[in-house]
Amino acid sequence: MDLAHGHFGEFGGQYVPEALMGACAELSVAFHDAWSDQEFRDEFSHVLAEFGGRPTPISYCARLSQETGLEVWLKREDLAHTGSHKINNVVGQALLTARMGKKRMIAETGAGQHGVASATAAARFGLECTVFMGEVDTIRQSLNVFRMELLGATVVPVLSGSKTLKDAVNEAMREWVTCVDDTHYCLGSVMGPHPFPEMVRTFQSVIGVESRRQMLDIAGGLPDVVIACVGGGSNAAGIFSGFEKDASVKLVGVEAAGGAAVSNGKPGILHGMRTYILDDADGQIIEAHSISAGLDYPGVGPEHAAWSSTGRADYSTAHDDEVLDAVVKLSQLEGIIPALESAHAIAYVLREAGRELPRGSRVLVNLSGRGDKDVAQIREVLAAR
Ligand SMILES: *Cc1c(COP(=O)(O)O)cnc(C)c1O
Repeated sequence: MDLAHGHFGEFGGQYVPEALMGACAELSVAFHDAWSDQEFRDEFSHVLAEFGGRPTPISYCARLSQETGLEVWLKREDLAHTGSHKINNVVGQALLTARMGKKRMIAETGAGQHGVASATAAARFGLECTVFMGEVDTIRQSLNVFRMELLGATVVPVLSGSKTLKDAVNEAMREWVTCVDDTHYCLGSVMGPHPFPEMVRTFQSVIGVESRRQMLDIAGGLPDVVIACVGGGSNAAGIFSGFEKDASVKLVGVEAAGGAAVSNGKPGILHGMRTYILDDADGQIIEAHSISAGLDYPGVGPEHAAWSSTGRADYSTAHDDEVLDAVVKLSQLEGIIPALESAHAIAYVLREAGRELPRGSRVLVNLSGRGDKDVAQIREVLAAR
């Protein structure tokens, strides 16, 4: 990886309009300066501990292990503040915003989870916060719009394009051009132009650092396989980074079958990065579709594109039906209701036990978030089955 220019093999880069080159360069310098400053890193760890709920535990799944013939462990990001791993990234970027002397953060959001996390961090640090959200999503996820407003943020419905996540990213970038002096763009995953993929992965690497130590201390050794769901790819990049150098540890990313940029896409440029994207014959971006709003992004972080092309990580998909089965299984066998996103990783375990995952394998799944946000939807879909 060429960190200076943000390349991951042939992927990554900084494909932004001239007006944003300066902002990306400033951010890159500020991030690298902060991350090499022990005081900043101590503050990051401190806030994640006293506000974010870290470290999150790993849990051994006795009943799921018995059912699958595997040894299954979960990294419990569902127990972090706001209910998912997203808090790690927004705390890092909010601290960085303050360090750069900026008073405002903007963010994009799809289902609303990153918007809520951003609004949460902004409130904690006294920053103004504006969240761009496709109009379609503001209607589908009206409760999250209210959460953000309750936290003091302003939600701006985006009316362009398909009025969903990809359009919200476009609008946030457009806004950023006009106000870089006092505003930081808090991107929600390991995507976008350099330095975002590297920066967000670095903030999320706390998941990998913690869980590697926990596996050695509590599980008695490294896992054979680490599995995580992949939307933009931040929870996966966070946990994978902890095991990337352990050659014996297989890494598996699980995409939504209806939004599988690594599995079904081809190289192209989207939102400032070269990566795998889903587009049609005319090069137009295809809307991704999944039961889980957090995974229907038509691209993927460039580091995943690189891990896939070098073979360091494998990528698979899970269908909506398998995902629902996985939600029910984990709820009833382990007393944990997973987020629909995280249930993709569980679905892979259930399907591949005894196949891609040989009997007796020690498996670590990143449970990226809790399912409370999804129970109304899960009830509807199960009732309609
Ligand atoms: C947002 C979200 C995801 C998808 O984002 P990544 O960047 O791929 O991690 C996955 N799980 C949960 C619980 C989320 O909220």
